[in-house]
Amino acid sequence: MTIFAVGQATIARIEETYQPVYKPKDLFPEWSEEIFNQHKSWLVPNHYDPASGLVKLSVHSWLLQVGKQKILIDACCGNQKSRPARPFWNMLNTPYLDRLAAAGARPDEIDMVMCTHLHHDHVGWNTQLKDGKWVPTFPNARYVFSKPDFEYFQKANVDPATAPTEFGTFRECVMPVVEAGRADLVAGPHRLNDHIEIIPAPGHSPGHVVFKLESRGKKALFIGDVFHHLLQVYYPHWNFPKNSDVDQARVSRRMILEHSASSGALVLPCHVGAPFAGRIETSANGFQPRFG
Ligand SMILES: [Zn+2]
Repeated sequence: MTIFAVGQATIARIEETYQPVYKPKDLFPEWSEEIFNQHKSWLVPNHYDPASGLVKLSVHSWLLQVGKQKILIDACCGNQKSRPARPFWNMLNTPYLDRLAAAGARPDEIDMVMCTHLHHDHVGWNTQLKDGKWVPTFPNARYVFSKPDFEYFQKANVDPATAPTEFGTFRECVMPVVEAGRADLVAGPHRLNDHIEIIPAPGHSPGHVVFKLESRGKKALFIGDVFHHLLQVYYPHWNFPKNSDVDQARVSRRMILEHSASSGALVLPCHVGAPFAGRIETSANGFQPRFG
């Protein structure tokens, strides 16, 4: 298990999947043989799988323990959720909750669930199937959702014919939490408590946010999908294919990279491969990751 310490806080990675998933050019049209060769020494094997020729991505949550609170940041895809458009994330049946328990938190011990955005691979474990119904997995938690994301997907939910691909996700993983009275809709920037601030970083989704942790003067940034792969640190204009606003996604990425480099914060993305978290430095050409 990967565990990081930030001041008095501890952060454990809770894995759902970590596997080769995308053809490089499908993920990043700018990918070239030349760029691959330039970065090969660190890309293989944690970020690119040479056997399949596919880019390797992780899907994980972060279990943050700070003060007396146990906080789950992003909630992966979940079990038994039908996502036919993403075969590698479809109808999963992983021991995610066992891994969470091994890291120190049973579902009823989670105090807060915070989603950086409301895409399906970040809200899945918000709910689980019980007697044919989707119910909150973490019965005692407050769930923090970005209000602009909630309003965007709620609007999409009105008309299934024109709904984006997140339609099923919203109905199964977000609405049951709201209907159970456990959701807090937050518009940033916003200070959540003594340790955590919410920083808006829109573009990948309309209400995408970053969570900033501070403990004893040490900082961490839970950046969600501000970047999916470390190559985007070297090439911040490279966008993941699915964004609600491609230009805004680039603006937010640069803003967070600059903030990361100037603050020295530990940066914790949601899909970057091992060692999963690290720091950002400025370089002659822009930025470079210091992961591991
Ligand atoms: Zn994601």
